[in-house]
Amino acid sequence: MAEETIFSKIIRQEIPTPLLYQDELVTAFRDISPQASSHILIIPNKLIPTINDVEHNDELALGRMITVAKKLAAEEGIDKKGYRLIMNCNEHGGQEVFHIHMHLVGGQPLGRMLSI
Ligand code: AMP
Repeated sequence: MAEETIFSKIIRQEIPTPLLYQDELVTAFRDISPQASSHILIIPNKLIPTINDVEHNDELALGRMITVAKKLAAEEGIDKKGYRLIMNCNEHGGQEVFHIHMHLVGGQPLGRMLSI
C-alpha cells in the first residue's frame, strides 16, 4: 500500500486548500509555490505514486485530468495564448510529491521546454 502524501489530505479537505475543481475522479488546486502567473495542479483522487504505477483502469481519470486542464486554462484566460502541462516522474523527472499530478502552467511565455 503506497504511503499517502499531503495531496490525499487536500482531496479530503483535511487541509483547507481552496479547490478549483473536484469530481469523483480528479481534484485541482493552485500550486503552493507557483512557477508562473498561473500554476495549477490536477491530480487523480486515487493515490497513484508515480506514472510507473499507472494501470489500465486509471485511463478514465488520466483522461479527465486533461479535460479539466482544458477547462481550467479557459477559466484562467490562458487558453488562447497557450500553456504547458507537465508530469514529473521519479528522481530524474524532479518528482517531489509521490501522488501523480499534472502541472498546468501559463500566463506568460514559458521559454524552451527544457533547460538542462
Ligand atoms: P513535483 O516536483 O512535480 O512533484 O511537484 C510537486 C508540486 O507540489 C510542487 O510544485 C509544489 O510546490 C507543490 N506542492 C507541495 N505541497 C503543496 C500544497 N500543500 N499545496 C499546493 N501545492 C503543493
